[in-house]
Amino acid sequence: MSRRAIIIGGGVTGLSTAYHLKRLGYGDVTLLEKDTIGAGSSSRAGGISTGLLWSKTGILARKTALRRFREMSRELDSYVFHNEHGCLGLFSPELWPAREALLPLYDEYDVPYQILSSAEIRRRWPQLNPEADHVGLLDPLGGYSEPEEYLAALTAEIRQLGVRIIENATALELVTEGDRVTGVRLDTGVEPADAVVVANYAWILPLLETAGITIPAKTFVHQRYVSKPLPTPFAAPPVNADPYLGYVRPAAGNRILIGAETPDRDDWKVGEFGFRLTEIADDPTVLPAVLARFGDFVPALNNAEWETRKVGLLSFSMDGEPILGPFGATEGLFVGVCFHSGGFSYNPASGYYLAEFVANGRTSIDLSAFSPDRFDAAQTAGYLASTVPQRNAARRRH
Ligand SMILES: Cc1cc2nc3c(=O)[nH]c(=O)nc-3n(C[C@H](O)[C@H](O)[C@H](O)COP(=O)(O)OP(=O)(O)OC[C@H]3O[C@@H](n4cnc5c(N)ncnc54)[C@H](O)[C@@H]3O)c2cc1C
Repeated sequence: MSRRAIIIGGGVTGLSTAYHLKRLGYGDVTLLEKDTIGAGSSSRAGGISTGLLWSKTGILARKTALRRFREMSRELDSYVFHNEHGCLGLFSPELWPAREALLPLYDEYDVPYQILSSAEIRRRWPQLNPEADHVGLLDPLGGYSEPEEYLAALTAEIRQLGVRIIENATALELVTEGDRVTGVRLDTGVEPADAVVVANYAWILPLLETAGITIPAKTFVHQRYVSKPLPTPFAAPPVNADPYLGYVRPAAGNRILIGAETPDRDDWKVGEFGFRLTEIADDPTVLPAVLARFGDFVPALNNAEWETRKVGLLSFSMDGEPILGPFGATEGLFVGVCFHSGGFSYNPASGYYLAEFVANGRTSIDLSAFSPDRFDAAQTAGYLASTVPQRNAARRRH
């Protein structure tokens, strides 16, 4: 009989896992989504991707992700990975030394980058106006996707590949027998499975709890805004601008997108599956504050009118790195969560590695640094019981 996998969560991580499982020739793949595809953070993402991360494992995984974004841009109908200008990181003199210390890691793993002075940034992209002592780090392989476009293209592709997608289907419980997972309980009964991949991001804790498992995951509110069409296109790379606590990029239809964190907001605790991201109220003070911070850097923002706002959640683990892989104590159970603010960027790789784990029992790169089993139980309990303002969570952008 062919092997059966159930994926829980219809965001980019779940969709990508389904896509790669089918491409690896895995038998029967079912994806469960409690609302509709993209109802979680995936449809709210800025879609910015860079390969210039903080750890060897992250760097290697992102190499795969960025290569796949470019390939999928050619393979999938109606999806484009915008790599025309690369992706720019901006640093103040205070922030630069920590990033500069990572350059040897990029050299070691053959990840390209260019260091740009403030004058050079202005010369290349006259619509950017960084302060004289700011430094740019350009990732020529980075770029951005329009998340709605990507979600639609990937969903159509996995349907074609034969994945059974069930929307409005909440996984209520992970069903286990002894030390292995055997299925997922829905309100219609138990769906049996040989492998279960939990990719439900902000809703992870209540679902794992049904199997007596806990991980140190916290979620934080995050928002981004898209303007009405501008008179002149914003011709610049996406910029991760830590000195201004946010990011900016061109958006479809001559628009501009800006996103920001809210450093003073405490972590947001998701207690039950019924919770929807639409329940999080936008803080009306955020947009004016972001615009005040960014106004000199991107003068085009000063005259923009605002059309769309999206509020969602980011999920961070205790050490800032993703949690991805099998649970050693429960055979057949896999998880892919806590991608900080970079889960969109990770997805072609996170889905690929989850599929490798499920189909082959191992991955083509060493992912032990992302293992769900790497945390101490007492520290996990303490972390979950605490309240953490966003400023104290590791800042890891895209
Ligand atoms: C405003 C904003 C901007 C962002 N910008 C970027 C960016 O520029 N670049 C980047 O890389 N990342 C960005 N991110 C982060 C990125 O959106 C997430 O990391 C990523 O989308 C996570 O994808 P996911 O599939 O793991 O989770 P989600 O998209 O949240 O999907 C999880 C799904 O699981 C479903 N679900 C939950 N519980 C159950 C259950 N019990 N049964 C069935 N289904 C269930 C949910 O309904 C949801 O659809 C941003 C996030 C936000 C909020």
